[in-house]
Amino acid sequence: MKDVVCMSGVELLMEYMDGALAPDVRSAIEVHVAGCPRCEAFIGSYRETPRLVRDATRMEMPADLEASLLAALRASRGRDA
Ligand SMILES: [Zn+2]
Repeated sequence: MKDVVCMSGVELLMEYMDGALAPDVRSAIEVHVAGCPRCEAFIGSYRETPRLVRDATRMEMPADLEASLLAALRASRGRDA
């Protein structure tokens, strides 16, 4: 592997952060990220996302919560329009 092209990318970085990559690929990415502000920023923002939020987006939203959110959305839209 010559170089990790930026964002060839996002998928590789996700696997990297999940610890799903082979050691040689991991080290290639680490070398690239160390010299690449874009990839470094991407990883930084991913890590700063609270695990709670990530877990929450994977959950089904309870029906009553969804209904009250929709009602709130409609109410605010009505006010703005
Ligand atoms: Zn990069």
